[in-house]
Amino acid sequence: MTKVLVLGGGTAGLVAARYLKAEADRLKLDIDVTMITASERHYMPPLFMEVALGSAEGHETWAPIKNAEKVYGFKVELDKVTEIDLDNRKVKTESGKVYDYDYLVLGLGVKYVWDKYKGLAEYGYHNYTLEGALKLRKALSEFKGGKIVIYVPEVPHRCGIYPFEMSLNLRSYFEHRGIEDVEIKVVHPGEAPAKALNKTVSKFFEREMGKARAEFVHHDGHVEITPNKVVTKNAEVDYDLLIKVPPIAIPDIMSFMADDKDPRWAKVKGPDFRYPGYDEVYVVSEASMPPLGLLTAGVPLHNAAIVSATSILHQIHGGFPVAEYAPTMCLGHGYNTGFAGNCEYKWNGSKYERHCYLLFKSPLVRLMKDSFYRGWLDSLRL
Ligand SMILES: Cc1cc2nc3c(=O)[nH]c(=O)nc-3n(C[C@H](O)[C@H](O)[C@H](O)COP(=O)(O)OP(=O)(O)OC[C@H]3O[C@@H](n4cnc5c(N)ncnc54)[C@H](O)[C@@H]3O)c2cc1C
Repeated sequence: MTKVLVLGGGTAGLVAARYLKAEADRLKLDIDVTMITASERHYMPPLFMEVALGSAEGHETWAPIKNAEKVYGFKVELDKVTEIDLDNRKVKTESGKVYDYDYLVLGLGVKYVWDKYKGLAEYGYHNYTLEGALKLRKALSEFKGGKIVIYVPEVPHRCGIYPFEMSLNLRSYFEHRGIEDVEIKVVHPGEAPAKALNKTVSKFFEREMGKARAEFVHHDGHVEITPNKVVTKNAEVDYDLLIKVPPIAIPDIMSFMADDKDPRWAKVKGPDFRYPGYDEVYVVSEASMPPLGLLTAGVPLHNAAIVSATSILHQIHGGFPVAEYAPTMCLGHGYNTGFAGNCEYKWNGSKYERHCYLLFKSPLVRLMKDSFYRGWLDSLRL
């Protein structure tokens, strides 16, 4: 029997484990797929923004990952990984268990490095965790007017379009509450909104932010955050309410796998997300996306998980075709509208080259996005 261990029960872990188990069953391969994950909750983090805006409740943002045993048939161990020993192919957990493996998929997410920039941990609100979203929701509901700053200290972070979507949603949120006197600014190190994604998507956000009176302010680097000001190298921006976006990095437990060029990320080999020197180890997290030219969000991770799963199946069962990195669709909110964009990828031998374009605009996009997230979670509810 071939043992595949999947660490982490987020999007990456779930997609990889689900795909491996389904194909192993279809091909009648003797593969044991076991997931080890620290939390009983499988979260859909984009819904944290909806929690902050009052359009979703906390319990609607997650489903019990243990249910994946009944729904998809792989084993789920609720335990915290405390040591990863690649040389001996062993994983140790908090409960004292030791697991060995033939193939390992690392889907442990990223850590949020709040203390990287002066004042970032101390001041402001965020919706990058459910707890954070509930606090932001309260702060927004008590806000009666004034200056809101959405601050992005560095890129890439989780979901590049989030700050711009949030600025537009905030305008709609306050309009629905009849509050006019709100200044909204996005303070960001990029040249223009979502420029790194694509020119057309960037133009979309520029237009929508113009309509929603949300201002884009470029910054050249962080200096400090005080109780009422974001100070950057080229601009000082006052705020009454600060919404912040966390810097990300490879989780501590994987720090020995960090890339020498940029220690925020994992060392990783394309096109199939293997860890160099260990052909049986796959890294599927936002920490493995930038070195391969990919975006740091759930949709690209979904693809990475499938490519990794098919690469493992290919090694176990030679005939299995390794999946190409498929086009990814990005749905984003506008100001009372939304857009669907598509990115196509080509592996050039060292990186994925990306070509992105806008597909359509429609006010239905918010509903489509919301239904997708809720449907995804519903599939884990018994
Ligand atoms: C506000 C917001 C909006 C977003 N919007 C979008 C969007 O519009 N489109 C999009 O594509 N993406 C979006 N994203 C990004 C998307 O949510 C993430 O890319 C995705 O959820 C990451 O999945 P993951 O599996 O890599 O990590 P995670 O979901 O963080 O999962 C990591 C898993 O590992 C487990 N774990 C961690 N450490 C251990 C350990 N030591 N032992 C055992 N288990 C451990 C955790 O319990 C968890 O189950 C958004 C994110 C946020 C926060």
